[in-house]
Amino acid sequence: MSGSLKSPVITMDTPLRYLKGVGERRAAQFERLGVDTVGALVRNIPRAYEDWSKLTAIPDAPFGEPCCIKAKAVEAPAEHRVRKGMTLYKFRASDGAAVMRVTLFNNKYAAAKVRAGEEYLFFGPVGGDFTHREMASPLIEPAEGGQRIRPIYRQTEGLSTRVIEGCVARALDALGAALDDDPLPAELRLRHGLCTRRFALENIHFPTSSETLAVARKRLVFEELLVLQLGLLRLKGRARSANAAVMAKDYSAEFYSLLPFSPTGAQRRAIADCLRDMQGDSPMSRLIQGDVGSGKTAVAAGVAYTAIRNGWQAALMAPTEILAEQHARSLSSLLAPGKIRVGLLTGSLPAAEKREVLARLADGEIDLLVGTHALLSEGVRFARLGLVVTDEQHRFGVGQRAELAAKGVNPHMLVMSATPIPRTLALIIYGDLDVSLLDELPPGRQPIETYAVRSDKRERAYNYVKKHIAEGRQAYIVCPLVEDEEGETDLASATEYAQKLAAGPFKGIALGLLHGRMKPAQKEQVMAAFARNELSILVSTTVIEVGVDVPNAVIMVIENAERFGLAQLHQLRGRVGRGKHKSTCILISDARNEEAVRRLKVMCSTNDGFKIADEDLKLRGPGDFFGSRQHGLPDLKIADLNGDMPLFLDAQAEARSLIAGDPELEHAEHLSLAQEVRRLFDQVTEQGLN
Ligand code: ADP
Ligand code: MG
Repeated sequence: MSGSLKSPVITMDTPLRYLKGVGERRAAQFERLGVDTVGALVRNIPRAYEDWSKLTAIPDAPFGEPCCIKAKAVEAPAEHRVRKGMTLYKFRASDGAAVMRVTLFNNKYAAAKVRAGEEYLFFGPVGGDFTHREMASPLIEPAEGGQRIRPIYRQTEGLSTRVIEGCVARALDALGAALDDDPLPAELRLRHGLCTRRFALENIHFPTSSETLAVARKRLVFEELLVLQLGLLRLKGRARSANAAVMAKDYSAEFYSLLPFSPTGAQRRAIADCLRDMQGDSPMSRLIQGDVGSGKTAVAAGVAYTAIRNGWQAALMAPTEILAEQHARSLSSLLAPGKIRVGLLTGSLPAAEKREVLARLADGEIDLLVGTHALLSEGVRFARLGLVVTDEQHRFGVGQRAELAAKGVNPHMLVMSATPIPRTLALIIYGDLDVSLLDELPPGRQPIETYAVRSDKRERAYNYVKKHIAEGRQAYIVCPLVEDEEGETDLASATEYAQKLAAGPFKGIALGLLHGRMKPAQKEQVMAAFARNELSILVSTTVIEVGVDVPNAVIMVIENAERFGLAQLHQLRGRVGRGKHKSTCILISDARNEEAVRRLKVMCSTNDGFKIADEDLKLRGPGDFFGSRQHGLPDLKIADLNGDMPLFLDAQAEARSLIAGDPELEHAEHLSLAQEVRRLFDQVTEQGLN
């Protein structure tokens, strides 16, 4: 390079537009793939590979399967204009063993590069019959230097895998010595038989053989899992800090006397686990895992009660306004005799009320603050926060759980989740928590009967609903509109659907409508009216999916049930079967799609959330499960939790010993590892709520 034109120093953090050959326009395209820096580009690993390294002779090529053939163009391509807009380019190629015909469709550019007498690599499926072989639209490269394993990337409009490949090659080149900055110390690599980062990144993109690819992949999977585990252990690292909020006295007996029912054995055990934690040397980090309807709210209330009676404030965070309001309502009536002051904070609270809540909170006049992620906002200050509870933890990110805890000085942390997760995943996802299982339902619960019916049976389903309403019970009807990612629904059609029901089959029956686009005050009104049994039917979108608790509701009708995943169906069904009355779930669907039918069958055959989670995993595969934001962890880019389980265990053990020796990861040899941990977990906090 000439002296005066010095290119900028490229590091992993350099914005992509500064890389040679990537202008503003291309940088914007990369942005759509979530790639914004040079580091992100080289960490964006191929989704698959084309093996151009193994050559097949033309006579041996299997029909219809992609393979790589090295052959000489016998002639230059001849142009055939078939009709307007369709031009074919045809030529023959020979590899010495046989001759094949090659056809390119409308690809003048590729055809122009083929010269008679030159040798090329042709990649793609071979067709033809026993008398002749042919390739239609193969990929063509000059034979020279092309014989290798080639990466295939996730593409986006304007950004083909070949363009990405070129940029990656330039990035690796430009990074130069920066590639030798390895987050894994040499000694650690040696012990686990891992290659360097340079080797790994070069070979994950441009492997020289399938062996080097495997070596590169192993190293990157290990690094990813190690960083994940370190991040989780750092969260748990709180465990070693001192317990700032020791709960000197146990008030659970007093709490039990407030309950309108007697707690189950499992609830008592869970509360006792928590109290033991809170009386210990370090703050509690505990997960209460119990299937829908197992009574997690009472556990949270009991733990909060003791914390508050010991002089501390508690916070309870729920993922939706509907749920936060329900908790505030039921907890204030439950705890009122105990003189406990409950406050509610959601994003939609009028400014004046919000100011008042915040002032009372800061003055210590609110004992238990219930709310949505609004609890995380800047102005929320507690006088003496001793306990934070997150309900439906799988709807939050681990980062948000930590953010709430940061509102106090190492407060105790209790998280609740109903989403049962297969054991192997639980080990990872909740690796930083102690677990209490609520494995017992409150007494008198009867299993929910579930039926899948076709839409021609809808009339009968409605009659069934009417019969139960006549007996004083209530029902949910989940309307066929699925909310999109922002919680948007087609408001008009939700309203129309409810009106049709109210004017037709349910004429004369009090019917309410609930959907995500309603004003919060309206939502609250409808929900409260339903809870008081002033509405017999609640037509709703999936906004009622989590947490909603109206024990007198005994029928759940789900329209277009095939549109929902298993976890979601289980959660929706969990809105009934919460009291002493027998409950029924009716799944209406005309789907014939095999997977959908299978899901409905699973729902009809079991009420057990763990069995359903296992089936879910089988149907969707672990990659999908992990990427589905069911748990608020960062997406794993490369590790596959089924295949890489042994590697995971290695990484977990390594993470534990690293943290034991250097809890803050502040030794010189761990600094770049610590940076990787921050990078991964910052991304979780940014993702925010779903
Ligand atoms: P989830 O675990 O799904 O959050 P909830 O805490 O909402 O369940 O409880 C479901 C219902 O069961 C509520 O109506 C609650 O009042 C009731 N419940 C909880 N514990 C008991 C119990 N020990 N005996 C009887 N009813 C209970
Ligand atoms: Mg709940």
